[in-house]
Amino acid sequence: MKKILTISILAFFILGHVHAQYRADRKIIRIDKHQEIKKGKELQALNLDLLMEKDGKIYIVASPQDLASLEAKNIPYHIEHRALYPEEQRRYSIQSGVNGAFHSYPELERDLMALADSYPELAQVMDIGDSLEKRNIYALRISGNVGLQENEPSVIFLGCHHAREWISVEVPYLLGKYLVENYSSDPEVKRLVDNSDIWIVPLVNPDGLEYSIHFYRYWRKNMRNNGDGTYGVDLNRNYGYRWGWDNEGSSPNTASEVYRGTGPFTEPEIQAVRSLFEQQDFQALVTYHNYSQVILYPWGYTEEASDQEGLLSALGNEMSRLMEQVSGRYYAAERAGAGFYLTNGDTTDWSFGVYGIPSFTIELPPDSSITGEFFNAESDIQPIFDENLPAALYLIDWCIQTHSSPSRFSSSQALQPKQKRLLLK
Ligand SMILES: [Zn+2]
Repeated sequence: MKKILTISILAFFILGHVHAQYRADRKIIRIDKHQEIKKGKELQALNLDLLMEKDGKIYIVASPQDLASLEAKNIPYHIEHRALYPEEQRRYSIQSGVNGAFHSYPELERDLMALADSYPELAQVMDIGDSLEKRNIYALRISGNVGLQENEPSVIFLGCHHAREWISVEVPYLLGKYLVENYSSDPEVKRLVDNSDIWIVPLVNPDGLEYSIHFYRYWRKNMRNNGDGTYGVDLNRNYGYRWGWDNEGSSPNTASEVYRGTGPFTEPEIQAVRSLFEQQDFQALVTYHNYSQVILYPWGYTEEASDQEGLLSALGNEMSRLMEQVSGRYYAAERAGAGFYLTNGDTTDWSFGVYGIPSFTIELPPDSSITGEFFNAESDIQPIFDENLPAALYLIDWCIQTHSSPSRFSSSQALQPKQKRLLLK
């Protein structure tokens, strides 16, 4: 079943079909998981397009030919009566997507608001800007006395620049949930929360995520209409540091999955991230993606090491060690451009290059295309969060140890007007 994925995504890249993938004759079907186990080889030979696994069912985007092949092989399936293509979109409600325990945009909005309502002294939800389709980009801010500006060391965790990387919403969201829910019972959590200002933006690309859930599971970019029949800018190639450095780390071709846009910071989703940096002094950044199971640090645009190689590598390796202790899963810490592949205009080159702060891209599991690619079962969410937790706590603590100023307890002041404007609750 896993190879099916490799082949279909490979075809997807090679053919360069992006929006051109819509085919009104395709249907979402589901097959019982035990069929996959029983008929694995036969299913594999069909090269089906896997959407996700949920509740013991495999969801697949199937053409009429696929359905005929399944029938010929006596593999039972059920048709899911759900929207997949834009022309059908209006006939279905926004809740009709197949996302299981993974958050959609409205589900995340609801859960973030609920967290802030339950823990008003510890958590606030801020609207840091709008997406192209006018969805809100939310930040969950967590700190002891969260209503006060206390000049504490500040860390930012980002998720879901890439729409199909659903697990990258869950890990930062669960981090926020963990911190507020364990504050009163765990003195270590209380110490970290009281002495820092933690910002969590779990969903940088809400339009893309909704599109991935409701219409096309492999969608990666935002929903920019490029005006030439193609859609989407790769939000993780649109940041302004060494933007468009070469055509290997990003693409000038609008149809490309790594299309960088017409200029740096053209996309409102990452303008929102930039504005937040202009108002808040961050000391470290983590941005979650998947898949690959690695911890990447700058530079991405070149194979060369930065002048902070020692620090970045030490922090990355310590996070890796802490993560491995939880589950035995190993996340290699690597310099992005040297160990992974070249990227330019990405988040971490920008936050490190412009602000000089330790910046990490954590590529969550699975570790390869063979073991699931962009897809994780619902049952993977909690274990993946659990193994990432100590790395996040370690980085928060590192900021506290490194950046705490003796005056921080005396310099409390009311929120600046700018931040008041952003405050939702
Ligand atoms: Zn990604």
